[in-house]
Amino acid sequence: MSECAEVQRQISALYDGELGSAESQRVLAHMATCEDCRKFSDSLELLRDQVASAIGRIDTASLDEAFFQNLAKERMSRTSWWRTRISVPLPVLGASILVLLLALVLALRPTQQQPQTPAKAPSKIRTVVLGPQDIVKQEIRSPL
Ligand SMILES: [Zn+2]
Repeated sequence: MSECAEVQRQISALYDGELGSAESQRVLAHMATCEDCRKFSDSLELLRDQVASAIGRIDTASLDEAFFQNLAKERMSRTSWWRTRISVPLPVLGASILVLLLALVLALRPTQQQPQTPAKAPSKIRTVVLGPQDIVKQEIRSPL
């Protein structure tokens, strides 16, 4: 790479303050003796001034306002109903959770189970009323 190409590559860095002092001295010394690099530097400087001037003419306040308006619109359009935050006061939230837990406990509580007796047909049920004479008869019939 020729020295001019190297210097012209470094001129922008020089303007941005990114060159060390030794490099800066070398670039400045070259530009003092080289018309091509001086012209390049002048055109670069003119371009930078024009860009800075154009940026200065931009109404940044209105840009900021437009930016934040667009941002708000974007957020509104992206917010779906299931993402909508519902603010619930903490005591109400706590009470609701308590009620739900109580309902859950009541729903899962084991019910008192009746002993499962096989249903008998009504015709097979015999009601026997035992009186003193029946006891005597039973004792007589018993093979003991
Ligand atoms: Zn040069």
